[in-house]
Parts: sequence; structure tokens; C-alpha cells
Amino acid sequence: MYKKGEILLKKSYLFPTYNKFPITLVKGEQSSLWDDKGNSYLDFMTGLAVCNLGHVPQKVKLRIQEQLDQLWHVSNLFHLPTQEALAEKLASISCTDLVFFCNSGAEANEAAIKCARRYHQRVLGNKRYEIITFEQSFHGRTLATLTATGQQKVKEGYLPLPEGFVHAVFNDIQSVQSKITDKTAAIMLELVQGESGVHLADQAFVSELSNLCEQHGILLIIDEVQTGIGRTGKMFAYEHYGIEPDIITLAKGLASGLPIGAMMGKEKLRDAFSIGSHASTFGGSPLPTAAGLATIETLIEDDLFERATKAGAYALDELKKVLKANPIVCDVRGLGLLIGIELTEVVNPIIQKLHQSGLLVLPGGTHVIRFMPSLYVTHDEIDLAIRILCKVLREQRGEVI
Ligand SMILES: *Cc1c(COP(=O)(O)O)cnc(C)c1O
Repeated sequence: MYKKGEILLKKSYLFPTYNKFPITLVKGEQSSLWDDKGNSYLDFMTGLAVCNLGHVPQKVKLRIQEQLDQLWHVSNLFHLPTQEALAEKLASISCTDLVFFCNSGAEANEAAIKCARRYHQRVLGNKRYEIITFEQSFHGRTLATLTATGQQKVKEGYLPLPEGFVHAVFNDIQSVQSKITDKTAAIMLELVQGESGVHLADQAFVSELSNLCEQHGILLIIDEVQTGIGRTGKMFAYEHYGIEPDIITLAKGLASGLPIGAMMGKEKLRDAFSIGSHASTFGGSPLPTAAGLATIETLIEDDLFERATKAGAYALDELKKVLKANPIVCDVRGLGLLIGIELTEVVNPIIQKLHQSGLLVLPGGTHVIRFMPSLYVTHDEIDLAIRILCKVLREQRGEVI
């Protein structure tokens, strides 16, 4: 296909939507990745919280191979065993009862927005349509979900945007109260805002938010696209907060790297979507749903919640310890294995140096380095990642001074 290093030199035929790192990855196994020149990397980004079981997890691979021999695709107008089984599994491990499958996080959130509006307009017969979301949030790149997203940069050049989205201040219940009107259909939020830099929702804020939703007949939508599937040490981040969302959206980690999205809702939402009111050609097709089932079974069998909780606590403690006196580190925070290290300066040059030193990590916003390793990550791997981080931060300070 391409010779070593060649891809970086040739003209690309892709739309330039990504500022790609100068690395061509060709192979992965557990927490390791290799580039086309044979260099290895410790992977602490897991394809953006997608490969929660590490790269090419064996049980999932075997299930995909079995399905590959059986059937790849038929229309959603037929019953599909893997799709039914994954929906039943998701209902049994969550506070929700029904699932709609699609192909990505944005589509799952789009389905949640549509479901919320239709529930009010068709089931309850009112005229509510507004969705309250939060500043610094991220909900996807379709026109509706980028409008829901509380960041200006994803909206530029796309006017006019769809109506019916308002933004409140995260962790500020008064701000939410001031946005509620007789048009409010739903409140949608991430419990840990990942994309913008690992901002955790406060317990008191989430409890009050849940009460507000109940009082005002507003649906509570939790976007678990990044936090779901064990990432925070529980299957879903909402379990940390003692609440029951009406709708949960999932994608990233659900099928270990095969494209899938899911919008899950409570029984009362059943009639929001009637026949023909929503659909997706590929949604819930056999390969990703087989992979999703195997992913969830593996998480439960290997008790990865316990592992991720312990590994996350260890990483957070160690990071806090070694970075405490570092003048360019202003905060270290996280939930489970979704960890953010906030610096006083922009992180992009540092991220590049971390990559060159063999540690793959991602930024969150402009000032945060995100650690999102596999849920199987070992203490040795965490120690190694922290050593590399400290070395690069030391060099950075040397250069600044
Ligand atoms: C990544 C992400 C999305 C969008 O998912 P896509 O699969 O890229 O469409 C939505 N919400 C959150 C919280 C995310 O992290």
C-alpha cells in the first residue's frame, strides 16, 4: 500500500478536517501501538476512549470473526439476533428499557433530541422543544448536535443553526433555573465534560438538576458517549451520582472500535418513536452489535470496573504527588480512567513531545492533557506514562526559562 514514512510525504486526498499528528499507526495490541517504522508507543488515548479493552481484545475479536462468517448486513426491517441481544443487555445493566441503534455519538445525541421533542409533542401533546445544554459541553458535529455543543469553535461558518437550544453554566443550578421556560423539553449534559478538558459535575448540582427535571416534567438526557462503558470505573457515569436519567446516549467504547451508537430510554418514551419516525440503515447491524455484546460481557467477566477504579485512583494519586510542586501544572482531576492534567500553558507542543517520547495522549480543550488508558492498564504502565510526562514537562520548563 504505502512504503514506510511515505504517507507523510505524499499529497492527501482527504478533506483537511484533522490536524493530524505526524505518526502513521499500523498495529495495536492491548496498551501498545506501533507505527509504520516499527516504533512502539504506550497508548493513553485509546482512540479517544473507544478501545477501553485495549487494542484487538481477544474475546471481542473471536466474536467478530464468528459473525464475519455468518452475516454482515441485512435491513433493519428484519429481526437481528445480535441487535436484540445487545439491546436486552443494555436495558438489563442500566436504568433504561429501550434502545435505538445508530453509528456514532452525534447520531445517538441527535436521536435523543428527536426522541425528547416527540415525547413532548406526540405523547404528552404539548409544544415543548427547547433543550438546555451547557457551556464547554461537546455533543457532536451534526447540525443539531453542534448547536447543542457549548463551544463556539464548532459552530463557525455553519449558520443558520437549528432553533431550540440554550446553554446554561455548568455546575450552576441557578443558571439552569433561569433558562427553564414552558418550552423546555429536556436538559442534556455530560457528567464529566471530556472534550473541553475533564470537568466533573458536582454531586449537589446533579442531584438538584435531577429534582428540577422531575418538578418541571423535563427529560434528563445524560451524554455517556465518552464516559460510558467502564471509562469512569462504573458501566455508566450516572451511577456515581445516584440519579436515573430518562435518556442515555452511548457510542465510543461500546463496540471496542467498530462504529456504533445507542440512544437508550425509559419505558415511558416507547411511543415517542412510532413506526417510520426514525431509522438508520447501518444502525445496530450484526458486526458492531456482536462486538458490543462481547465488549460488555468482557467488562463484566473481567470486573474491569474494580480494576479501572483502582487504576484511576492510583494514577490520580501519583500524578498529584509528582506534579504538586510543578509550576506549570495547575490542576489534576478525574473520575476513574478519565483523567485531566491542566497546565498554565497550551498543551499542544507538549503533546507532540509526549508522542515523540513514546506516550500517546490527547489534549482536552487547549490547556489539559487527557489520560485515557485501557481499563486493563497496569501500575507499571501508569508509572511509565508519568515518568515520560515528568521528563517532557522538565524539558519544557528548561526551554521556557
Ligand atoms: C465524542 C463525543 C460525541 C460525538 O461522538 P461521534 O461518534 O464523534 O459523533 C458526543 N458526545 C461526547 C460527550 C463525546 O465525547
